[in-house]
Amino acid sequence: MPHHDFDLLVIGGGSGGVRAARMAAQRGARVALAEHGRMGGTCVNVGCIPKKLYSYAAGFAEDFADAAGFGWRIAQPPVLDWAALKANRAQEIARLNGIYEGLMTGAQVRVLRGHARLAGGHTVEVAGEDGATHRHTARAILIATGGRPFVPPVPGHELAVTSDDMFDLPVFPRRLVVVGGGYIGCEMASIFHGLGAEVTLIYRGEQVLRGFDDEVRAFTAEEMRKAGVQLRLRSDVARIDALPGGTRRVTLQDGATLDADVVLYATGRQPNVAGLGLDALDVRQQASGAIEVDEHFATSAPGVYALGDVVGRMELTPVALAEAMALVDHLLGPAPGRPARRMDYAHIPTAVFTHPPIGTVGLTEQAAREKFGAIRVYRGDFKPLKHTLSGRAERTLVKLIVDDASDRVVGLHMVGADAGEVVQGFAVALKCGATKAQFDATLGIHPTSAEEFVTLREVTRR
Ligand code: NDP
Repeated sequence: MPHHDFDLLVIGGGSGGVRAARMAAQRGARVALAEHGRMGGTCVNVGCIPKKLYSYAAGFAEDFADAAGFGWRIAQPPVLDWAALKANRAQEIARLNGIYEGLMTGAQVRVLRGHARLAGGHTVEVAGEDGATHRHTARAILIATGGRPFVPPVPGHELAVTSDDMFDLPVFPRRLVVVGGGYIGCEMASIFHGLGAEVTLIYRGEQVLRGFDDEVRAFTAEEMRKAGVQLRLRSDVARIDALPGGTRRVTLQDGATLDADVVLYATGRQPNVAGLGLDALDVRQQASGAIEVDEHFATSAPGVYALGDVVGRMELTPVALAEAMALVDHLLGPAPGRPARRMDYAHIPTAVFTHPPIGTVGLTEQAAREKFGAIRVYRGDFKPLKHTLSGRAERTLVKLIVDDASDRVVGLHMVGADAGEVVQGFAVALKCGATKAQFDATLGIHPTSAEEFVTLREVTRR
């Protein structure tokens, strides 16, 4: 067997890359990881973590308003110190960057600083920060370079920002226009509305959050509207212009115009493959640019693997982590005494941190109907106890979809406070194949919103 500098060389220090590098090194492999930016990738730097921190920040606006119904008199109207929020976030992210660095050095992973590209079979070139290019060989190369925001080439698109820029905007936007009705568009709209911006979300289709359960989509859209986010559906941008003083004028295809301080494009993400040298090694890609991989994350080039957002399966941190662990087991064998992990894409729970948030696991009603034919739908919506005193008009939706033949709960959806926290627990039940009868046999925790999932008795529709 030819000698290589490393057993595994990972390109990209995000969630998937760091996990693969650390796990492989802990199994005794000689591992290197190349990264040219900050450690932690999208999730840590410009994704999940800062997003959730800002979502908490936005939540305080609701709490201040809700507090009055519980007898609190807030003497001064609270004001957001945007600079303080940004500084505190930056400090926490820097701490996490350090932890990720520490995980690498602690596991004896050699961190190669600079831009890496494939340079022949089993060979990677890293253009180092010292200006020199270094060649390294590895038995296996893992591409875990993630993704980046995609902005369509509408006239004036360069005047818009992406989610990468939102956390560090120099001035808090009084008026924000968000283009795109997916995860990021809806989350950012809710968050910046909560923080005090006047927000308009523009979506080209009939309803936001395509791919989610239709009832969940409609319910969430209505709650966002009630909260004060303006949704313009069946709308798209024709052009963006800069007005004196920094205002952006968005002209819609129907001729209407909107003025904003910031225009955020959240129109999807694309795989980060530029400058990776994929062509040289004939690494096959899909039309979207995503790297094609088999069930073991092997690309079409021998010894080259890829996972996480760059393969474009499900762009979620826990998915990249699980893919990384499955790959390490495949390359190095399972950990002693444990079966080899395989990636299972069924029953992946997810949350959208809108206000109120969505939590979901399993199939949508539409998908379940297609797959099983005969299904039962149980749903309820209600005013949460908290809002009996707060006076807030927000409602909560809970919904179960049951396969009639097996009685298994095949879809579980919630829109309401802490939906992500609630659905994480129920995801275990769905993974175990829990039946509606077992849900019914489970006692509730009173008074919670989650108990509604075990007290739904009436079939809403079949
Ligand atoms: P999404 O794919 O979720 O949404 C993109 C949105 O932009 C859709 O509404 C889409 O419309 C619209 N769009 C796409 N192209 C255009 C165009 N050319 N013109 C106008 N509108 C367009 O992407 P996001 O960027 O929101 O998020 C990327 C991924 O990141 C998500 O899919 C998710 O996997 C992950 N993510 C997960 C989060 C979480 O777990 N909470 C949070 C944030 C991101 P249409 O529906 O018509 O295609």
